Amino acid sequence: MCGIIGYTGKRPAGPILLESLSRLEYRGYDSAGIALFDHTHELFHARATGKLESLTSRIEGTLPPAVAGVGHTRWATHGRPSDENAHPQLDPSGKVAVVHNGIVENFEKLRKRFTERGELFASDTDTEVLAHLIADALTNGSNLVEAVRKVTAVTEGAYSLVAITSADPGRL
Ligand code: GLU
Repeated sequence: MCGIIGYTGKRPAGPILLESLSRLEYRGYDSAGIALFDHTHELFHARATGKLESLTSRIEGTLPPAVAGVGHTRWATHGRPSDENAHPQLDPSGKVAVVHNGIVENFEKLRKRFTERGELFASDTDTEVLAHLIADALTNGSNLVEAVRKVTAVTEGAYSLVAITSADPGRL
């Protein structure tokens, strides 16, 4: 069973997310990751297969002081446990990061819409299409909340998600 966490506030998000993920470890997981957007709107994105220590040692000393972000411990349902399939998943431009718990039943049909217009997918997960869909809605003029509402209207299955975007870095 995976865990998802999001933080936005006044304190650096990175340490809060990592501490939160350690509290979710008891649920079981195969990989972990975080994404942060700092005040310059640059994405910080790190993922690692295995225990949370693999992630924390990989990012030691590199965390930016960003005050918003998302984190995830994954229990794979679509795609093997790997760094590429770990969350957060991104859209191709790296402006949207998504963590997701559960299954998007109709992800193959939704993904076809993007592959047919030449967009590449970097993972085998059902999750990645959520990032593409949110980015697409943002490009078409929605704000983040509207974009997520549009996406939940076309996706089927039982799941929860948290998304962040460089277009609106303080919002989850
Ligand atoms: N279906 C997603 C995946 O395989 C999320 C799994 C989970 O809930 O951790 O990446």
